[in-house]
Amino acid sequence: AKQRGRNTYEFFTETMQLQAVERLSLEQDLVRAVEQSQFVLHYQPQVDAATGRIVSAEALLRWEHPLRGMVSPVQFIPVAEETGLIVPLGEWVVMEACRQMAVWLAEGLPVVPVAVNLSAHNFRSDSLLTSIAYALESTGLPSRYLHVELTESAVMQEPEQAMATLGALKSLGLMLSIDDFGTGYSSLSTLKQFPIDLLKIDRSFVRDLPDDASGASIVEAILALAHALGLGVVAEGVETLAQRDFLRSRRCGLMQGYLYSRPQPADVFAGLLREGVLR
Ligand code: C2E
Ligand code: CA
Ligand code: CA
Ligand code: CA
Repeated sequence: AKQRGRNTYEFFTETMQLQAVERLSLEQDLVRAVEQSQFVLHYQPQVDAATGRIVSAEALLRWEHPLRGMVSPVQFIPVAEETGLIVPLGEWVVMEACRQMAVWLAEGLPVVPVAVNLSAHNFRSDSLLTSIAYALESTGLPSRYLHVELTESAVMQEPEQAMATLGALKSLGLMLSIDDFGTGYSSLSTLKQFPIDLLKIDRSFVRDLPDDASGASIVEAILALAHALGLGVVAEGVETLAQRDFLRSRRCGLMQGYLYSRPQPADVFAGLLREGVLR
């Protein structure tokens, strides 16, 4: 038993060592990736629940690693957050989304607003407002086209500071969404005071609709809250007609998910914009 215990121990340390090495190499690659612009944005439509019309989109970051291929944001965003690289990366995302929308506008496409994800680090960064103002100014993009998604935990940590920052973002003319809503601990009185436009229902609540009773109750509660506060709602991760019908019948305004479209490269998304309506 002792022998076996020792082997098990060695096995674990080896695995841990491998993970540390892997992690370090990912970190080094990430520094290079920022310098060598190996990132691209994919765009996922957000559609009007009643008509299927594309009314906005979410920009999702993709890393095209020269050797690893596509690396998921689930893998590299946490590393970027721990190393502080997320701040320049987030600023790149804002700039790239603005640049792309300005190009589409110049081409005469029926452009819709695009939401970018900003991490708590970006939200608290000194350069947040100047970098966004600079992206809008240098691309000439009207600010109403830029939406910002912030997670519930990012804005609820220091509500007073958050309130000031959200107010400043609003005065730039941006739309603001609270992402992954329902997964954090929002104080309702704080939420009511925040100058936000939309709540995004986290995919974990949408996934088991309509059969899962607790998921259904949570979604209904979020919708009631949003309606009471006069906020729009986006349901994320809508994959089935049954989920769509449930959400529609409860007056969820906007849908996003594989049922309509996966996140697409810019050129494919431009084609969807030309069509305008998804199912
Ligand atoms: P998120 O902001 O909650 O984004 C939604 C995620 O759900 C995306 O995963 C999207 O591709 C996926 N998704 C959309 N519809 C469906 C569906 O119907 N079914 C399923 N199974 N998934 C769906 P993705 O692109 O892998 O991004 C994962 C997370 O990484 C994002 O979650 C966000 O937290 C983060 N992320 C992505 N891009 C950025 C970025 O530019 N900046 C920051 N800070 N975080 C980002
Ligand atoms: Ca998001
Ligand atoms: Ca989300
Ligand atoms: Ca989510």
